[in-house]
Amino acid sequence: MYSTAFLDLPPLVRAGGTVRLPGSKSISNRVLLLAGLAEGTTAVHDLLDSDDTRVMLDALQALGCTLRRDGAVLHVTGLGGQLATREARLFLGNAGTAMRPLTAALAVLAATQGGCFELSGVPRMHERPIGDLVDALRQLGCPVEDLGQPGYPPLRVGTGTPVALNLDAPIRVRGDVSSQFLTALLLALPLVTTAQDVVIEVDGELISKPYIDITLRLLARFGIEVQRDGYQRFVLPRGSAYRSPGSIHVEGDASSASYFVAMGALAGTDAPVRIEGVGLDSIQGDIRFVEAAQAMGADVRGGPGWLEVRRGAWPLKALTLDCNHIPDAAMTLAVMALYADGTTRLGDIASWRVKETDRIAAMATELRKLGATVEEGPDFIAVTPPTQWQAASLHTYDDHRMAMCGSLAAFNPLAGANCPVRIEDPRCVGKTFPDYFEAFFGIVTPAVDAVPVLTVDGPTASGKGTLAAELAARLGYHLLDSGALYRATALAAQDAGISLEDEPALAALAARLELRFADQRVFLAGRDITDPLRLESTGGLASRVSVHPSVRAALHALQLSFRRVPGLVADGRDMGTVVFPGAELKVYLTASADARAERRYKQLISKGNPANIDSLRADLQMRDERDRTRAVAPLKPAEDAKLLDNSSLTIEESVARVLGWWQQRRRF
Ligand code: C5P
Repeated sequence: MYSTAFLDLPPLVRAGGTVRLPGSKSISNRVLLLAGLAEGTTAVHDLLDSDDTRVMLDALQALGCTLRRDGAVLHVTGLGGQLATREARLFLGNAGTAMRPLTAALAVLAATQGGCFELSGVPRMHERPIGDLVDALRQLGCPVEDLGQPGYPPLRVGTGTPVALNLDAPIRVRGDVSSQFLTALLLALPLVTTAQDVVIEVDGELISKPYIDITLRLLARFGIEVQRDGYQRFVLPRGSAYRSPGSIHVEGDASSASYFVAMGALAGTDAPVRIEGVGLDSIQGDIRFVEAAQAMGADVRGGPGWLEVRRGAWPLKALTLDCNHIPDAAMTLAVMALYADGTTRLGDIASWRVKETDRIAAMATELRKLGATVEEGPDFIAVTPPTQWQAASLHTYDDHRMAMCGSLAAFNPLAGANCPVRIEDPRCVGKTFPDYFEAFFGIVTPAVDAVPVLTVDGPTASGKGTLAAELAARLGYHLLDSGALYRATALAAQDAGISLEDEPALAALAARLELRFADQRVFLAGRDITDPLRLESTGGLASRVSVHPSVRAALHALQLSFRRVPGLVADGRDMGTVVFPGAELKVYLTASADARAERRYKQLISKGNPANIDSLRADLQMRDERDRTRAVAPLKPAEDAKLLDNSSLTIEESVARVLGWWQQRRRF
């Protein structure tokens, strides 16, 4: 997962390849609650691991459910409808799919068995309405206390003393703000059907009906057969009791699939985008996004558990559509609209205003930054593509879908532009799809020369390795420690008994170097060489190996291959001068010989290695001299390099200085 402050996406031209989707958020949290309430143990397969499921798991644990992980399977032993804990404070982040049903289930259990529970979340959660559900629970006789603004979390349910519930009259709930209120009641009320049928009636037109279908299907898996009359009246028969199905499989998230369907429609020109984990047989309402994407031009094939998408019509066809049935995936249409042949108007989306953020306002603001013309109303958005695209830094409002939607704007070269797109706070995708950007980068192709490179060159022990690693971490970019390639070649030569003067043999060795970088470790032909690689003596050998032109040439292609989306920070001696002469920013890092010798001395002493500062200084100077005076790729600043003497700077100060320069080069 990317936890950087922002993530810059280079302009992209193609998408193709396979993605495997994480489990559906809606199914995961419903299954968890059902398994937590049911009698017996449920083996949950392919559960989504994300912020929203984590808060649900924490809540279940706090309530006394037993959770056991066995590889990819989670075993949940439920409460069997009996409270194991009578008091708890539950923090539910920004997970509506946890807050609503837990409020209802705990209100009912607390009222009938005597309990008292507090439910709270992040500040945005406290702005998301829950009043319609609270009204329904109060009608029923459940004590519910507002701990903040009436009608919003935080809430306290129950008083600790059992009360009689009023189950004779139908329980009425509004269905036009969020279908999650009805889902919450449907999940909670089977717990109180011991003596009679329980009836729920919906006031007003129910929105997002497909989510109710998911609820009903999952209830059936857990032994509850709901009788119903359309979406107006639901009867939970007397004697309903939750029974674990033993094992249950969570299908991939259909809303998450929408981004990849869109990528296929925009940029699946060579190979299709293949999506695994969700298919045309999905029980999730958002699968119907596929029809909307087809209407815009996508060429979609699919079967059980898979979809394949290619570009069909191009440009996309503008669309006018009521999106009540696909509220979440409809956001993806709003971004596809940037690539359409006219104005796309999405209606019946009032629920967007009470989601993770006010999504209508957020979408309008961010699409305008890209150059689009956007009209918004209480329950609609209309998007006209940009005539002039602009590089934009997209704010994401702690809303995973804003971030994932925003990524689609990076395909702007397909609409004749060539703009990078910045996604602020990319970590927010953790709500439903922690590895979204990894999956995204796995299937996209950047425009020619579009992947940005930042080089850091300089003499031995100038601190460039530390600086480069920190820059790469802050930018979410790949890192090339080119010195490691020369060092590894030197080690490989030593192993093979090759003389450091034998240029042809060394070059042949360098050309087939089997190097692998993983988890901060380096492997040479499968052997972990992390420690020997960093030895002072290895650096000395590397500088002798690196004077040979054909060794340098042999390592050239390998170095270039590190330049991958979203970007690269490369450190060495000739990154800016030879390997990446077109780099967007080149830094030449220096420090006085005294400062460098002292740093290296401290580093060695702190690791318990004996060291002598005078001989260290002499060694450094000798290596610098060799690197500076060699015939090919000598150590020197590129003409357009920014010089940075860090003798008296902390690492953080150096990082801030370079990031400042980087920011000036970016077009945001
Ligand atoms: O940076 P590091 O100390 O790991 O580099 C070891 C040696 O590899 C350097 O002294 C230099 O001779 C060589 N090198 C090079 N070109 C690079 C990186 C390292 O010649 N780009």
